[in-house]
Amino acid sequence: MMPKSRTTVSLLLLPLVLWLPCLPHILGQNVVPFEYHDYSQVTQVLREFHQNYSDITHLYSIGQSVQGRELWVIAISDNPTVHEVGEPEVQYVGNIHGNEVIGKELLLHLLEHLAGGYGKNGTISSYLNTTRVHILPAMNPDGLQGSLEGDCYSSIGRENARSYDLNRNFPDKFEVNTQPIQPETQAIMNWTRSIPFSLSAIFHGGAVVANYPWDNTPLGQNGPSIYSRSPDDDIYRHLALTYSENHGTMHQGDICSGDFFEDGISNGADWYPLRGGMQDWVYIHGECLTVTLEVSCCKYPTQDQLGDHWTQNKNSLIELLLQVHRGIKGQVFINGTDVPVSEATVTIGDRDNTFHTTSDGEFWRILVPGQYSVTVSKAGFSSETRTVIVPGNLTFSAVIEDFYLVENGTSSAPNASVTTTGYTTETTDSEGRDARHLAGNGCRRQMMDSFVTLLNGAMIMLISMDCVL
Ligand SMILES: [Zn+2]
Repeated sequence: MMPKSRTTVSLLLLPLVLWLPCLPHILGQNVVPFEYHDYSQVTQVLREFHQNYSDITHLYSIGQSVQGRELWVIAISDNPTVHEVGEPEVQYVGNIHGNEVIGKELLLHLLEHLAGGYGKNGTISSYLNTTRVHILPAMNPDGLQGSLEGDCYSSIGRENARSYDLNRNFPDKFEVNTQPIQPETQAIMNWTRSIPFSLSAIFHGGAVVANYPWDNTPLGQNGPSIYSRSPDDDIYRHLALTYSENHGTMHQGDICSGDFFEDGISNGADWYPLRGGMQDWVYIHGECLTVTLEVSCCKYPTQDQLGDHWTQNKNSLIELLLQVHRGIKGQVFINGTDVPVSEATVTIGDRDNTFHTTSDGEFWRILVPGQYSVTVSKAGFSSETRTVIVPGNLTFSAVIEDFYLVENGTSSAPNASVTTTGYTTETTDSEGRDARHLAGNGCRRQMMDSFVTLLNGAMIMLISMDCVL
């Protein structure tokens, strides 16, 4: 009788057992416990989230570590498998140093917060309908597997399996980096180049501060600590302050013994210069604003502190995500058509950097509130400069400014670009602003250097054809 009875009870309970995995979501409880997750557990959590939220998540690997562990990324958005034209993309990366583990756990809880909030929380729903967020909890899973809970200060587990510090392993803006590029680094480089990220955050431990480019200086890693100002210093300070001011304690600046950071932020090289950092590389080559977030004094604190760390960082993580909708965005087209112009340069005022349009002609520039002169250029076209006002309020879209470039040698009459937003518009001639970039373009047969000259009332059109091999 007993076996039969047990079977009957078990069968009666089966629907409940099958339903149980859904229960925490329905009750709004934590699915991700405040416990550490090793590589296999991170993998399991991501797979479960993807199963439970298959409509809004996309699980993919960007490569493998030295020891063959997958570098899992979970994307979350209303259409998570594709880039939607005009939607900004965000990159959050944890655990680049294998023994700095709090970021990894925060990202799992952030994932839970976003996925569980979609369709219930207005801000989260609107955000994920207008943005795609890519979360890589553990960039250095080999180092993670060798690190030790409770080890606050040592470097055990910091490096990858070949003993390379991945945050010294990227090509550097200021110095030659002779380190061989590691598989984990290469995976990040390929990934960052394949998706038009606008905003990135990289999580570390061992201090509590929001840090921003540049990490190196013209004097190099062995030079003095000096403020190494990037062209986007104003918005970088804003992004760093967004994190520190929304954090439970970071803004106090003196959370960890021996450190003081005014307002809880620091220029990277002003703290200490380093060569081969991920932050500078992603900023330059991803054309993506990137901050480094140090989120715990102890690199690998004991597990009982995880809940407190989530409480301290939750608002900061969300508020920083929202900033991707600050500034301007738009598309660049050939005038009078809906043909996008890729690889056009977008320059803000006299900032000494340019971002380039995507294959769909898209661009994003995150900017603090103010008035900006925006110039869009491409060889073979007349460039356009327009004054744009970036408002202080934050919505789920940056100011949209589309540009319509006139091909040299064509008339701009029928559908010439006229802004309808009331902003001042003026057109200037191209002055070869983007010549440096074009040298790196892929091979495309295209009409270049077409121009029209009016001479003694007669129009002479000179067209030269070129193909950059
Ligand atoms: Zn670190």
